[in-house]
Amino acid sequence: MKTATAGLALLMTGFHLAATAQPARAGRPNIIFIMTDDHAAHAIGAYGSKVNQTPHLDRLAREGALFTSVFATNSICTPSRAAILTGQYSHINGVTMFNRFDSSRHTVARVLQQGGYYTGMVGKWHLGSDPVGFDQWEILPGQGVYRNPVLYTATGEQTYTGRYVTDVITDLAVDFIDQRPRNKPFFLMMHHKAPHRPWEPNDQHKSHFAGQRIPEPVTFWDSYATRTDALHENQQRVAGDMTNRDLKLTPPDGLAAAELSRWLSTKPDAVTTELDGRIVTLTGEALARWKYQRYMQDYLATVQSVDDSVGRVLDYLDKAGLARNTLVIYTSDQGFFLGDHGLFDKRFMYEESIRMPFLVRWPAAIKAGMTSRAMALNIDFAPTFLEAAGLAVPADMQGRSLLPVLRGAAPKDWRTAMYYRYYHDPGDHNTRAHYGVRTTTHKLIYFWTKDQWELFDLVKDPYELHNLYGQPGQAALTATLKTELARLKRAVDDRDQLADQQLPNGVDGPIARLRGK
Ligand code: CA
Repeated sequence: MKTATAGLALLMTGFHLAATAQPARAGRPNIIFIMTDDHAAHAIGAYGSKVNQTPHLDRLAREGALFTSVFATNSICTPSRAAILTGQYSHINGVTMFNRFDSSRHTVARVLQQGGYYTGMVGKWHLGSDPVGFDQWEILPGQGVYRNPVLYTATGEQTYTGRYVTDVITDLAVDFIDQRPRNKPFFLMMHHKAPHRPWEPNDQHKSHFAGQRIPEPVTFWDSYATRTDALHENQQRVAGDMTNRDLKLTPPDGLAAAELSRWLSTKPDAVTTELDGRIVTLTGEALARWKYQRYMQDYLATVQSVDDSVGRVLDYLDKAGLARNTLVIYTSDQGFFLGDHGLFDKRFMYEESIRMPFLVRWPAAIKAGMTSRAMALNIDFAPTFLEAAGLAVPADMQGRSLLPVLRGAAPKDWRTAMYYRYYHDPGDHNTRAHYGVRTTTHKLIYFWTKDQWELFDLVKDPYELHNLYGQPGQAALTATLKTELARLKRAVDDRDQLADQQLPNGVDGPIARLRGK
């Protein structure tokens, strides 16, 4: 164990600096961890969104801290969730793809529960095995659905007929807080399905962006010149890989179930639609632009419900008198491409995919309106919560507590580089496995099944359009980054160089299948 006394001392220092007089243990904060699925930071007002407005999320930033450089260590749903729970990289916690999480492991929930917290989990879990370490849980099976969702508990299931998933999860979260025992602090993981594919907004917001022309990102027409085959071969492109289901197109009448399923998963290369009052058939560039609009209108409309949800939770905390000593976090399991590089989805080590939004409010201990550029990782969340709770951080957690950063300054030896690895090859989108290093100024990516590299200067080329690998004058920089990559690999104990074929394949499936449904 890392020293409990050191953690406690640090915590007490934190309280001292914040000029509060609460004894560390009696004053332990409640913790609400709100996590969405696939919500890119660049679709949040406080992060400078050019495409939407999120007043409640912005309030969280205004009253707390906004981190600009928080990264997923493996940018895909299930692995990121396992990394967050365990504070460990995928190769250590065993969840590299969609394989089942071994729930006998240490998790932040289990340690908090053992340390005297009342613990709850509501919403999307997506780890194959049942949640452990929670006094109460109610979760979506697998990905869950947007409308009429079914949720499972330890003892049964309930269908929320006529309800929208984001509202149901918010109700469950508020009920959990409202009905908690009053003699303990609480820890709540509140995990939304939204804004994950297939991006189905509720009735209130489904027309929110109708008739608006959402600006295309500057890299929407990226030609992929200078980049590796891995990018050229991917199948997560707005122009070519969105399906009839994604685009909410109306199927022909009279299709049998199998035909309908096939039709919905078809990727259309021509669409007849009404545009500016005329019926037109769109192809090529015009169709790509239209697909982007349809995608973003729905994606962003599901985000509006999430913003409402955060507003409801913050209002509840105010009314219940809990706001001051409740640590509220907002994040997403990874980022997402919003047409950036012509893409949707995540997976790649490019900025839009690995960057996680991370907003933290804790009025009793951190200053309002703070922005931190400290490089943080999803594996840092568990140690952060444990230290905030005055509990020892298990030695096998690889992340580092963000509390010193939240108090105002990163320690002098804070990380200046991070290791990333993605395994799911070819996966659902023909996205190739890769690993790499991101420093504060550069990124080096190795697509090992291709034996091809990409090198970017993030200062001169923040959109990662110019692959410098193998270019004249880059040899010294490349050597330095390769050395750093090797150092990080050793530091996180990833000894497995190329053996991706031996890793477990996602056979255990969602919880529904485990229960024989
Ligand atoms: Ca996700």
